[in-house]
Amino acid sequence: MPASIRPPSCCRPTSTQPALLRLARVVLLWLLAMQAVLVHAAGLESLPAEPLGRWMEVMIEKGRPLTLDEARGRLSGGAFVRGHEEVLKFGIGARPVWLHLAVDNGGLRPVDRRLQLEISWLDRIDVYLVQDGERLLYKTAGDGDAAAQHPLPGLGYVFDLTLPPGQSEIFLRVETPDPLLLPIRLLDNAQIGALQRQYDYGYGLLYGFLLALIAYNAMLYIGLRERSYLDYIFYLGSFTLAHISYTGHGYIWLWPANTVVQQYAIPLMMVIFGCLGLRFADGFLNLRQLAPGIHRLIRWMSLSGLFMIFVTIALERQQDAVRFAFAFVLLFSIVMVWLGLIAIRHGQVAARYFLAAALTAMVGISTTALAVWFGLAYSPLAFHAAGWGVVAEGILLALALAYRMRQYQRARLQAEQLARTDLLTGLPNRRAFLEHAGPVWSTAQRSQRPLAAMMVDIDFFKAINDNHGHAMGDRVLQAVSQLLAEVCRGGDITARWGGEEFAILLPETTAEQATQLAERLRTKIAALRLGSPRKPIRLSASFGIAERGEHESLDQLIHEADEWLYHAKESGRNRVSGPLELQPAG
Ligand code: GH3
Ligand code: MG
Ligand code: MG
Repeated sequence: MPASIRPPSCCRPTSTQPALLRLARVVLLWLLAMQAVLVHAAGLESLPAEPLGRWMEVMIEKGRPLTLDEARGRLSGGAFVRGHEEVLKFGIGARPVWLHLAVDNGGLRPVDRRLQLEISWLDRIDVYLVQDGERLLYKTAGDGDAAAQHPLPGLGYVFDLTLPPGQSEIFLRVETPDPLLLPIRLLDNAQIGALQRQYDYGYGLLYGFLLALIAYNAMLYIGLRERSYLDYIFYLGSFTLAHISYTGHGYIWLWPANTVVQQYAIPLMMVIFGCLGLRFADGFLNLRQLAPGIHRLIRWMSLSGLFMIFVTIALERQQDAVRFAFAFVLLFSIVMVWLGLIAIRHGQVAARYFLAAALTAMVGISTTALAVWFGLAYSPLAFHAAGWGVVAEGILLALALAYRMRQYQRARLQAEQLARTDLLTGLPNRRAFLEHAGPVWSTAQRSQRPLAAMMVDIDFFKAINDNHGHAMGDRVLQAVSQLLAEVCRGGDITARWGGEEFAILLPETTAEQATQLAERLRTKIAALRLGSPRKPIRLSASFGIAERGEHESLDQLIHEADEWLYHAKESGRNRVSGPLELQPAG
């Protein structure tokens, strides 16, 4: 508890002193009082449930490892300094650190407390409880030694301490080549329980979300066989593994007590995650075709990333592996945003979604990396930013994939539409005619309803081309097509059969009605005024008609109409031929 500090009488404010001076004195006294709080043992009840960096004294171990007694000697010699932030952070490859926390159990009974150190990747932690110079307890933990105490999922390392009445001291020595940061709390059972629940739900939600995204995309891949979905599953899977390795879940569930895997799983998975992300982007944005130079650069970046991480692992340079992995992941998130910008510049489908996704992931990943490494203050929110950033990215990328699918579908429909339409006249082509005519034929056949076919061929069209030019020939084809489309009914199927020949299928139409229609068409075509006044085009067409009767197929019906057309040509052109053999009007 803070020692009570009484201001000396000389410092008591008097009314003659200027207000500013009085305020300065009050502030000074308050600071002195605070200092008194800090240098004394903290009352157990006054400790917050937050990380205790500011309540501890810290010393960086310079030479050989110190014993507890040596460290205590350094403490009394003034070599320790007061922590300057809640979560003390020393970066990657830092020297081992000693921490000291003095606590005061003001009651008459021993009190149980749990010292929690949230970072599961720390290689070695030594914990000592000391009272009146006597060591009451010593524990060792860390993922660098399989025999040492293991971390708990989410909570990290938790040490049970029984604090006897009076003042005790907790000494900690922490050593790791990984990012050295120390969120240390001293909590009671209820508080640890609450924290555990919070993390259990948080991780459950995160992993649940990631696995659901993976399963969803796996199903899409099975259904659609689109490579991007597969790349995306691997990308999300590698992130989940990287996350599981740095939160300690991997060391507990997947490779229990395997310290070698644990040492290198985090940097290795970070680099693999980056490489798979680049692979996904490369395929999704179609860089091989869009920007071959960048495609090669991306491949080079991935391969050299993998090469570097495997070399550092082979040489057992854990610290270099960790440093490289952090730099690689930061570079990766920047490159993803850059690729998004390039895709937008090239007008790529879904590029905006991709850029938004890459930006979210970049913010999340770099927040976590910098909060752990250097530059940003550590907080649980910052620590988990990468996870939630990647989840947000996942949702946006799922949207991007769906959007791109929709665009593809639209393009395919357009292409199919184009493949069925004659470009010059806008009429359906022969393929579309046969597709539509099939069901019409079957219906007429089943219900024994009349159905007529008409073939139309422009007379001496070759001469029109020869005398007036091919462009004028095209104009004639367009004019005749327009006329046919206008005169025929909605249910009729009119198509350009090929060259200057047209086919019309007329449901619910007898040969007689078809012949009348053909007559009307023939007259209208003959009345078309095309070409220039000086050089008018004399236009006419011949018609062949057939009505469904004994025919076995639509082909036969069309064949008969074609034969009647040939007959019309033979009989002098500009006429309608068919079973009724109506003669041209004039
Ligand atoms: P007939 O009275 O016996 O039908 O004689 P024709 O000259 O109309 O028939 P032919 O089959 O001898 O010639 C058809 C011509 O149509 C030949 C071909 O160059 C032309 N043609 C085919 N398709 C097109 C086209 O899309 N545009 C133009 N301008 N001409 C075409
Ligand atoms: Mg470690
Ligand atoms: Mg012709």
